Amino acid sequence: MSNNPSFVLKKVEDVVFEERPIPEIFDDEVLVEVKKTGICGSDVHYLVHGRIGDFVVNNPMVLGHESAGIVSKVGKKVKNVKVGDRVAMEPGATCRICDDCKRGRYELCPDMVFAATPPYDGTLARYYRIPGDLCYKLPDNLSFEDGAMIEPLSVAIHSVANISGFRANQTAVVFGAGPVGLLCMAVARALGASRVIAVDIVPSRLEFAQKYAATETYLPPKPEPNESQNEYSERNAKLMKEQLGIEERGQKAIDLVVEASGAAVSIQTGINIARTGGTFVQLGMGSPQVTIPITTLLVKELNFKGSFRYGPGDYALAIALVAQGKIDLKPLVTHRFKFDDAIDAFKATREGKGADGNPVIKAIISGPDVNPLEH
Ligand SMILES: [Zn+2]
Ligand SMILES: [Zn+2]
Repeated sequence: MSNNPSFVLKKVEDVVFEERPIPEIFDDEVLVEVKKTGICGSDVHYLVHGRIGDFVVNNPMVLGHESAGIVSKVGKKVKNVKVGDRVAMEPGATCRICDDCKRGRYELCPDMVFAATPPYDGTLARYYRIPGDLCYKLPDNLSFEDGAMIEPLSVAIHSVANISGFRANQTAVVFGAGPVGLLCMAVARALGASRVIAVDIVPSRLEFAQKYAATETYLPPKPEPNESQNEYSERNAKLMKEQLGIEERGQKAIDLVVEASGAAVSIQTGINIARTGGTFVQLGMGSPQVTIPITTLLVKELNFKGSFRYGPGDYALAIALVAQGKIDLKPLVTHRFKFDDAIDAFKATREGKGADGNPVIKAIISGPDVNPLEH
């Protein structure tokens, strides 16, 4: 049987629609009819480069991993959802038996089956097969678009609430005001931040950040022609401290730096700007090798941490904060596409601008036969 249109990456810059068989489910699995899928930088990266690090697209792969839909079939052992439930899907199935799974850090599972990470197919199809426990029921006040946005929100929750342990009345700086950076700002605010400073090199992004979740913004200066990267970062941090009244210690110090751009100078500036004993979390994927001011890190006793995807409790907290009205995902959805126009969603995300000339924050692709205007 085949009524499962799928959006497939065959190789670099080569995508097609394919009719694929409707997946068979195991007893602990669920078949979800996908309603909305957000497009993320990693999907575009596979389309343009065919790889991210060691993950290489050698065989055709269905794209997409930020999805929500309706449960259309449940396996015998599934108890948490039933046919007809509206759900957000956590797109990484773990092995459940390895050391990392068992010690509660399943995002590090070496046998992770993650949607649209080669060789595993993603969610841009009519149907997606997933373990039942990775489906989270959407409260009535969350739309399918909200449900799709729970994926990038969980990335932000993981770094700000979980990895960094951010608490009420603390201060945060977020480098990079793309979708995940903006969501990190929103999470910090939802957790009671006293100050959230957005940093980006694009002024229009800072304007949006200020309206959305930041309490202040900072636009870095241009580097001087003969300045080294490290010299620039030190000057940038000094300027930032002066402009924003940031101090090394006390109420005016920065408790948390979230680096969501991946740019070397942001990483260096972030280490310089964080308070003594503060926390720095690396979230953005950029240059694989970066020089950092290690002595500064040492004498300040910074907690320097990596944050990857999401782990136990992150999806549930993300849904709860949206349901309680503490985070609004709607302003981030800027562009909507029919399933048949999926390629245009990728084009818009890649160019950072839609055919309407407006900047893209998040483009959403509807499932086959789903109206893009129905959220
Ligand atoms: Zn994503
Ligand atoms: Zn595992």
